[in-house]
Amino acid sequence: MDYDDANVFARIVRGEIPCNRIYENDHALSFHDIAPQAPVHALVIPKGRYVSMVDFATRASADEQAGLIRAIGETAEALGLSQPGYRVLTNNGADAHQEVMHLHFHILAGKRLGPMLAGGPMPPSSRA
Ligand code: AMP
Repeated sequence: MDYDDANVFARIVRGEIPCNRIYENDHALSFHDIAPQAPVHALVIPKGRYVSMVDFATRASADEQAGLIRAIGETAEALGLSQPGYRVLTNNGADAHQEVMHLHFHILAGKRLGPMLAGGPMPPSSRA
């Protein structure tokens, strides 16, 4: 999929629309999600034009990759999440319900988050 420069995170990176910023370095930015799904819900995005994890892993420089990983950790630390704990996830593509086509990591925290997915583990008979 081609990168769409009109997506909302591209506009945040360019400063065209505001965000509630948490952390920033040369290659990545984090801010609070506009529609939180947990008491703490932050987003961490690369500043570069990447749609997905595969796109980022294959095209981003080593500095960009390090900057994004550092931003995830620094954001969790800035939010005081190291002790209570938190979840990091990224939705890639249609099956994962990715809505914004600019790579982003969700940081979710602030309560007991429960199983990774709402339905819990798959029954053994349906596992691949
Ligand atoms: P995803 O479904 O993984 O693509 O998640 C996209 C996320 O972006 C959702 O959690 C939205 O609430 C969030 N979002 C969309 N627009 C904004 C915005 N302007 N500022 C902060 N978060 C946003």
